[in-house]
Amino acid sequence: MSQPARRVQEFLAAPRSMFVAGRWGDALSGARLDSLDPATGRVLTSIPAGDEHDVDVAVRAARAALDDPRWRDLSPMDRGRLLDRLADLVEENADELALLEAYDNGKPVGVARAVDVGTTVKLFRYFAGWPSKFEGSTIPVSPRGGLKVLNYTVHEPVGVVAAVVPWNFPMSMASWKLAPALAMGNAVVLKPAEITSLSTLRLAELIDEAGFPPGVVNVVTGRGAVAGAALAAHDDVDKIAFTGSTAVGRQIARAATGNMKNVSLELGGKSPNIVLPDADLAEVIAAATDAVFFNQGQVCTAGSRLYVHADVYDEVMAGLVERTRRIVVGPGTDPATQMGPVVSAAQLATVGEYLDLGREQGATVLTGGGPVTGLGEDYAGGYFVAPTIFADTDHTMRVVREEIFGPVLVAMRWTDTDELVTLANDTPYGLSAGIWTRNLTDAHRLAGRIKAGTVWINCYNYTDPASPFGGYKQSGWGREMGHAVLGSYTETKSVWVNLS
Ligand code: NAP
Ligand code: MG
Repeated sequence: MSQPARRVQEFLAAPRSMFVAGRWGDALSGARLDSLDPATGRVLTSIPAGDEHDVDVAVRAARAALDDPRWRDLSPMDRGRLLDRLADLVEENADELALLEAYDNGKPVGVARAVDVGTTVKLFRYFAGWPSKFEGSTIPVSPRGGLKVLNYTVHEPVGVVAAVVPWNFPMSMASWKLAPALAMGNAVVLKPAEITSLSTLRLAELIDEAGFPPGVVNVVTGRGAVAGAALAAHDDVDKIAFTGSTAVGRQIARAATGNMKNVSLELGGKSPNIVLPDADLAEVIAAATDAVFFNQGQVCTAGSRLYVHADVYDEVMAGLVERTRRIVVGPGTDPATQMGPVVSAAQLATVGEYLDLGREQGATVLTGGGPVTGLGEDYAGGYFVAPTIFADTDHTMRVVREEIFGPVLVAMRWTDTDELVTLANDTPYGLSAGIWTRNLTDAHRLAGRIKAGTVWINCYNYTDPASPFGGYKQSGWGREMGHAVLGSYTETKSVWVNLS
């Protein structure tokens, strides 16, 4: 057994604790939740089921950390150094973290290594540079009566930040919040998804090892409707940063009005991927398959609505079907696997309902359309579903209108550009879009007409800590990453000094 594999087995061999106020412990109630392996349906280990009392202790620890000179008085350079140290530690433990994510979430270990762990390292690395660079301004104001003043702005931490994150990219979604929040000097209480808390708990060990003072980062595991809701409603939380479904985002925004906490939301999507007739079709066939089936389709930006120009529709669809049939489905821990199981039995059931619904509403299954069996006795209880392509679909169908969050593509043909734009924007979401063409003018014109926070031209599913990410319409509030996010983790103070 390799060293990372041995470390993962050791990690899974013990019931896990959660990390509050710099200490590892159980929930106050002692309640626990099992964490399952989606490839087998078997229990990997268990985690504390934190509730509102644990949330309260964690929020108090975070509040205290904001006043701890070891955090409050740390120089910007030294805060950056801690983030850099954390990036180093994640990198040093990359193989172990990737394997742990593959066990807990089900995703292929190569995806976990390149995307989940890779993104986490880049996030801490990128935001490590910001504490010493996010400057205020001096502002040439014109006060009444000719008063001479110096007016300047400073960016201060918002305070106690709650982060509630989903299960599709567990550790990296947590890091999307942690990195900018810590860079700006906040203290964080993080609630991972109950079915994928393990990598975040391992990350918390590395946060501890990096030397962040106690209480600066707290991880409360538990159910969303209990621990997550308690964070959203807590009167001493200054900001809540949420990634997840639009339905839960709405509840969080409502709960946040109690103390008018600052809210940022990254929500769902049903993204159009658009093929023009002059596109490089070989490239389109490969990339459009990956755009929707990457990470078992459990990606908020999944290119799940494909619009192919009628002139090339038959050729593109034939290529997509052929490529999709070759996708190797299996356990994520097997390096040969290209698509793992979906994350849970509940998610498997949801995807199954949409497959039935698509057929009932008249869509045609070109490939896939049901569970994958025959992977061997060990995996008989796993949550495997075949990558599925629906044709003969239109905008009256629920499989076209709703986010499935599984490996299901709906394909449509188009001829008129104005009609295409109307269809592409005919969705409550606005997270992302893809455009495939060799014509730069068409590409930029179309990019300008799609209501989405990210548009990829001749590529798909790229994100970077330096580039802003977020949604139009019901895909969210605010932007994450890049310098765009820094304002959402700071309060700007305007200071007036009378010089007369
Ligand atoms: P979800 O059900 O909304 O859960 C997200 C998080 O919220 C989990 O930690 C969950 O906890 C917690 N939660 C559940 N109910 C809550 C409540 N009443 N109050 C507070 N927190 C609560 O979403 P999901 O099914 O895990 O994730 C899939 C969704 O996330 C999709 O819609 C997808 O598009 C979206 N997503 C968006 C982005 C983006 O960047 N825009 C990225 C990834 C995913 P438990 O799981 O422990 O119950
Ligand atoms: Mg799990």
